[in-house]
Amino acid sequence: MLNNLRNYTDASRVEENVMMSGHTTFRVGGPAKVMVTVNSVSELKNVVTYLRKCALPYFILGNGSNILVSDKGYDGVVLRLSGDFLKVDTFGAVIMAGAGASLGSVCKAALDNSLTGMEFAYGIPGTVGGAIVMNAGAYDGDMSMVVDGVEAVTTEGEAIFVAPHSLAFGYRTSAVRKAELIVTKVTFKLAKGDKDAIDAKMQELMGRRKDKQPLEYPSAGSTFKRPKDNFAGKLIEEAGLKGQRVGGACVSTKHCGFIINDDNATAKDISDLMDLVRQKVYDTSNVKLEPEVIKIGKF
Ligand SMILES: Cc1cc2nc3c(=O)[nH]c(=O)nc-3n(C[C@H](O)[C@H](O)[C@H](O)COP(=O)(O)OP(=O)(O)OC[C@H]3O[C@@H](n4cnc5c(N)ncnc54)[C@H](O)[C@@H]3O)c2cc1C
Repeated sequence: MLNNLRNYTDASRVEENVMMSGHTTFRVGGPAKVMVTVNSVSELKNVVTYLRKCALPYFILGNGSNILVSDKGYDGVVLRLSGDFLKVDTFGAVIMAGAGASLGSVCKAALDNSLTGMEFAYGIPGTVGGAIVMNAGAYDGDMSMVVDGVEAVTTEGEAIFVAPHSLAFGYRTSAVRKAELIVTKVTFKLAKGDKDAIDAKMQELMGRRKDKQPLEYPSAGSTFKRPKDNFAGKLIEEAGLKGQRVGGACVSTKHCGFIINDDNATAKDISDLMDLVRQKVYDTSNVKLEPEVIKIGKF
């Protein structure tokens, strides 16, 4: 298997037993059996076709800022997008970004070109691909408002274009995961704006994040989705869970919506704390919190 994968990329980009704790913002996770760094659409098509043919499990890693990988690791192939997938180009009010580029680099390109519309995304620590999967958003904005089109590779290894209306964007969700698409490139449609005003908005929103969120600790941002007409953090605090611990994992005292790794937590600590929080919130307010964080591997 490894030799075949090495034929499609190059030897140095196929690694074995890679600790996922080095690739997630929770800083937890055991070894991925294989990690392949893919640099172009043609490489990706070949690798996916091969993995499907052999029925080998795989998943796409973005910046690992919304996943919780098991301490036992992942018994399959992790695909990382690099090379061509990091490019960000601007044409008038349109930005085309590779799926592996950071959202921050797209926000910066927007600012540099006096384009407004992406300010809400400044400070979300994901890649462009991960943001489309999650319909990432904040401060009244989300990806559905700025995406004009998505290029992707299907499970059959075919490159396709997907129009925004086919992506079924919803609150922190899109059709990408269900369709098992691999996002390769995204077109953002923005509008001409005032550079100073765009900069000021980005700084203001970043300031709000720093004030309200425990950015000094490893986490995956909001652990749970916002329940209808309510806030996860508020319900968690009302359930008396502020500062609640399981091992090295803790409900942040700064923002109860965040579970943080503040003392060498394991993925199991975090997962057990998520279960405890869900149960207690259900007991006190009859609301079933839905995890926003995606679990990878066996728990
Ligand atoms: C401090 C902090 C603050 C955060 N604030 C916010 C916020 O304000 N708003 C918000 O929405 N989120 C927030 N998040 C969560 C997270 O940053 C977003 O969900 C982000 O979009 C995840 O992107 P990623 O590249 O890290 O994806 P990953 O976590 O690596 O992956 C998430 C999912 O997307 C899939 N995926 C990744 N790339 C691709 C691709 N190219 N094609 C197909 N599937 C892919 C993965 O397989 C996985 O299923 C925050 C996280 C942290 C740590």
